[in-house]
Amino acid sequence: MPPSPRVLLSIDYEPWFALTRRHDRLLGIEQRRNLDGGFTLNALEPILELLGNARCSIYLVGEVAEWYPQIPQKITTIGHELGFHCHTHRSLVKPEELKRDLAASAIWLKQYNVRGYRAPMVGIDEKAYAMLASNGFTYSSSTYAPAGTLLKKNNLTPSSCTVWELPVSTFPIFGRKKEQVINAPRNFSPGLLASGEIPYGSSFMIGLMPKMILRILERELRAGLSPVIFLHPYEIIRPEAFGSRMRRDLVANPLLLPFIIHKQEFLTTLIKNFPISPLNTYLEEAQHA
Ligand SMILES: [Zn+2]
Repeated sequence: MPPSPRVLLSIDYEPWFALTRRHDRLLGIEQRRNLDGGFTLNALEPILELLGNARCSIYLVGEVAEWYPQIPQKITTIGHELGFHCHTHRSLVKPEELKRDLAASAIWLKQYNVRGYRAPMVGIDEKAYAMLASNGFTYSSSTYAPAGTLLKKNNLTPSSCTVWELPVSTFPIFGRKKEQVINAPRNFSPGLLASGEIPYGSSFMIGLMPKMILRILERELRAGLSPVIFLHPYEIIRPEAFGSRMRRDLVANPLLLPFIIHKQEFLTTLIKNFPISPLNTYLEEAQHA
């Protein structure tokens, strides 16, 4: 029996300024901690409260685990899945960059037996899967593809292990293509949109059309599918003076606006009306089906 349909909810748990991309490399770890200003710590409790009895996957930035060791502790104690988002938030498409981040976060990844990975900006290279396997990961959710897609990445060298790719969901408006080859990178790009796939699992799309996304989710579940979606902490709990701090970035890049839109109501509606699960429990069920 395939797993019962549910929404595979994830939160890419990162500092509010990750969105701006302005501080990706410019600041040292202490300066980034100061800029975060306690937001990642203070947002956790209210987010966990909003989630209530629902359990999801929380992909954590390693620096945040370093600043506040109580965050990964709390996430796992409550029973959410703790995953890896990166060590320092920036593009990690290049395998050598990912290798550096895996090494930097090695201690807490081992401590918490972390098995799931979500690449920043949902961007990954095919070569990364072998690296994830040799670092003990069993799955990644770092591409976009139609809901229901589950890809087995095996014959990986140097590792003989298997890593699954459970993509963030898209809706193919021209219908599903049979035997479609889905390889990374498959990020949120004009090419993806031009091919007729709506990446509704992205918080960008949720910001643009929350009611429509809820309708798509309902339709997907009715079709027996389990869509993967993600949110960010700053979309659920507002950082202090978020609007004014982001103004400069919004002027430079108005496409950031959907990420700024408050999504707490979306989250509470989602939890109230849909079965929710983390990605790892779904994968375990799918493998034993
Ligand atoms: Zn991110």
